[in-house]
Amino acid sequence: MTVTALIVAAGKGERLGGGVPKQYRSVGGKPVLRWAAEAMARHPSIDQVRVVIAQGQHDLAQAALDGLPAGELIAGGVHRSDSVLNGLQAIGDGAVLVHDAARPFCPPEVIDRLLAALDGSDGAVPVLPVADTLATGDITLDAAVDRKNLFRVQTPQAFHVEDLIYAYEEAGGASSTDESSVMLAAGLKVATVEGDPMLDKLTTEADWNRAEAIIASRMVPRTGMGFDAHGFEGEGPVMLGGIAVPHSRGL
Ligand code: C5P
Repeated sequence: MTVTALIVAAGKGERLGGGVPKQYRSVGGKPVLRWAAEAMARHPSIDQVRVVIAQGQHDLAQAALDGLPAGELIAGGVHRSDSVLNGLQAIGDGAVLVHDAARPFCPPEVIDRLLAALDGSDGAVPVLPVADTLATGDITLDAAVDRKNLFRVQTPQAFHVEDLIYAYEEAGGASSTDESSVMLAAGLKVATVEGDPMLDKLTTEADWNRAEAIIASRMVPRTGMGFDAHGFEGEGPVMLGGIAVPHSRGL
């Protein structure tokens, strides 16, 4: 079965400022989209990576994906669901992992868990429990919400391509924030697997600082020494790094 990672990167995502959509903003020296695409491309179970982009962002996307095996870029739509559907129509049958470009770090173990769970289900999504107290309200609180059995649902989300296309057809163009909601609305079964805080979406400036800190903490400083020898020619001087080094011509 072919496994395709479909990365949706066609959002405007300019809330964070900086002049470029957030998926092209640099974090740790690389565009966010590149981190996401690299994580997918390096997983041994993923056969191909395809990326959905917005009109007018072709150059940005090509620069961000330079040298990665990302195939032909796919044109996105007005809503996220339009972008996903365009992507699904451009890839072949098999399994698909739909992933937000705005989630740069994807631990390989999450992909392993998703693909294992997809074996016995229509879909599989990574989830995390909710740690904070939940409540409805506005200026004042109305009521507390029982957080038991409530999850934060992340991406990538795994499905069989034909099931997800069917679910979108059933939705009849209704907009959604992710694919698991579309699958559930169509009466299909979506399994949960353990998610990872590393997969959290970059949305606020604080998320950005967190991502920079994660990358910095992974950097390992390395030093090295080398040795190089050349024969003399002429009278000198010997110049090293722009500095004349005193020497004797020896024997
Ligand atoms: O806006 P939000 O953060 O929910 O977007 C989630 C993902 O969906 C982002 O990676 C964004 O680029 C993508 N998206 C898309 N097409 C749209 C809107 C959002 O591919 N029309």
